[in-house]
Amino acid sequence: MSYIIGEKCISVCDTACVKVCPVDAINGPKSIDGLGKEVQSMSKEELQNMQLYINPEVCIDCGACLVECPVSAIYKDENEAIYFNDEKSVIKNYEFYGYVFKK
Ligand code: SF4
Repeated sequence: MSYIIGEKCISVCDTACVKVCPVDAINGPKSIDGLGKEVQSMSKEELQNMQLYINPEVCIDCGACLVECPVSAIYKDENEAIYFNDEKSVIKNYEFYGYVFKK
């Protein structure tokens, strides 16, 4: 199981979550290992439809990111995302890092 960044992150890409993650599991919107640094040089227009992603193979489920997100975009696991009809975000988080989500 892994924490999941959901659709509320789209076009927001606040990187507060990245700063508190103890294992550097959060990246995007473009680079899979850039720790969100590219966000600083992107305009609001460039961030449209973009989001950050949690690497499900690296996340240790500590929960530190959850309270930092200003738009409450983070789910505590895949099941919670699916419960809130946001399974596509689960798939996106996995696919961003080259993994396939299996229920
Ligand atoms: Fe990082 Fe902890 Fe959030 Fe997982 S739950 S992405 S380890 S801060």
